[in-house]
Amino acid sequence: MTGGRTRTRRGDCADASGGRPISNFGGNIRFTPRRRYAPRTEDEVLQILNDHRDGTIRVVGAGHSWNPGIKTRDVLVDLTHFHHIRVCGDTGFVTAGAGVRIGALLKHLSKRGLTLPSIGLIDRQTIAGAVATGTHGSGRHSMSHYVASMRIACYRKDGEARVRIVDAGRELRAARCSVGAMGVVLEVALPCVPQYFVRERCVWRPGLTAALESEVEAPLQQLYLMPHAWTVLVHERSVAAEARRTGWAALYRAYWLTVIDVALHLCVKFSASLMRSRRLVHLLYRRLLPAFLFPRWRVTDRSDRQLLMRHDLFRHLEMEAFVTREHLAAAVDFVVEVLRREDERGSYVHHYPICIRRVLPDDTLISMASCHGMQEQDWYAISLITLTEPREPFQRVAAFVAEGLSSRFRARLHWGKWFPPGEAGVEQGYPGLGEFVATCRQFDPRGVFRNRFLRRTIPSNREQVTAEQCLTHVVRTC
Ligand SMILES: Cc1cc2nc3c(=O)[nH]c(=O)nc-3n(C[C@H](O)[C@H](O)[C@H](O)COP(=O)(O)OP(=O)(O)OC[C@H]3O[C@@H](n4cnc5c(N)ncnc54)[C@H](O)[C@@H]3O)c2cc1C
Repeated sequence: MTGGRTRTRRGDCADASGGRPISNFGGNIRFTPRRRYAPRTEDEVLQILNDHRDGTIRVVGAGHSWNPGIKTRDVLVDLTHFHHIRVCGDTGFVTAGAGVRIGALLKHLSKRGLTLPSIGLIDRQTIAGAVATGTHGSGRHSMSHYVASMRIACYRKDGEARVRIVDAGRELRAARCSVGAMGVVLEVALPCVPQYFVRERCVWRPGLTAALESEVEAPLQQLYLMPHAWTVLVHERSVAAEARRTGWAALYRAYWLTVIDVALHLCVKFSASLMRSRRLVHLLYRRLLPAFLFPRWRVTDRSDRQLLMRHDLFRHLEMEAFVTREHLAAAVDFVVEVLRREDERGSYVHHYPICIRRVLPDDTLISMASCHGMQEQDWYAISLITLTEPREPFQRVAAFVAEGLSSRFRARLHWGKWFPPGEAGVEQGYPGLGEFVATCRQFDPRGVFRNRFLRRTIPSNREQVTAEQCLTHVVRTC
């Protein structure tokens, strides 16, 4: 380590015992890297890569993922200082440093009458972290889909670090959602769209089929399947014809923050965590919550106000599985069946609305909505959340659901959310995985960016495994 770069280190992390432990938003990932860096320039990033070419390097964004993607015992890089934003009015593109938070980016764009084509529920993530995991909202593509180019610090064949610009072809399809497997993303360029307004209301529907019917008029809608009532609250949303905030929009925002983001969560905490009462949880979803939702209240507000929530106020754990439209109804039935059975047995009481969001298909190699090598279809993300501790009962049920959905419906798990620890076969549903692995090898021939999580979910012998599986299949068929 040269003396000139010591200022780039954060904390005294020369050895594991002296280092400050890192933990993620959910509190389920904790580790202490041997070294931790916060470089300020691309040259500093390249120096780190050259210094640690025999080790394991991972990058942390805002730490909002629930899986061990950021975990390493060796080198952790934090790109906080890569916070530049450049908007190119002529091309309609924005270029952002990897460490820029989505909230800061939206604010910057909004001042210029612009916004991003797609966002998730919160804006605390870094842009590089969000695209690395295929972060999505509802009714549009994932953020990864829109990435037009990236600067990535990676390795040459001879092991020397270099910066590559990725802006077309297979490399871009891989880099758009790469879970950090291709190197350290330094900068991301995305198209921006004119700021728009969203019209929304909340309505109750008796079931999934009825809820999906409003998708045509409200293409940005998201659904909440209420546990124990098993009715669906539809958050109907569409782009408003007029770019104008309606009169009650500010009050609506305050109501949503108070009733949903805070009061509902406190009620869940009280009934499921503190009292551990199955009856109270049932009462909450069957009687109490419906009394506080007003279907006639229709408001229009700016997209980045309306689409975001303060979903980050309470620490929780989330698992999200993606299925195609053709499997959605059966997949939801399966989830309901599992949760009902657990409830009747008294072994686990599910205590949080099950959010269902539509994500349009894309041509990335491994984003959860990737349609590479398969028929184009919309994907639906089904999310299970727990607010209670200890989390083992939830994790047992979520692992069972993940395994069931993936074996029955070729479901894919969100790359930024909780993954069951065992071999759930979650990566099996990506026809583009072999191509992805081959591309990663060109950027990282020695596997420096591969931690344990990536070795498990994206085996580097994937092409070989696929060939072996094909052979076994042929032999069996014969
Ligand atoms: C409260 C909450 C709400 C959420 N809502 C949504 C939602 O609505 N929709 C949705 O899809 N997801 C959602 N998520 C998940 C979240 O968007 C993803 O986990 C996202 O990856 C988090 O971004 P981050 O900056 O925290 O990345 P981190 O969690 O720090 O990192 C994520 C992954 O990206 C890699 N990475 C990060 N930066 C770089 C880089 N510069 N170069 C290479 N690799 C990098 C990391 O190594 C890691 O593997 C939510 C999470 C939370 C906690």
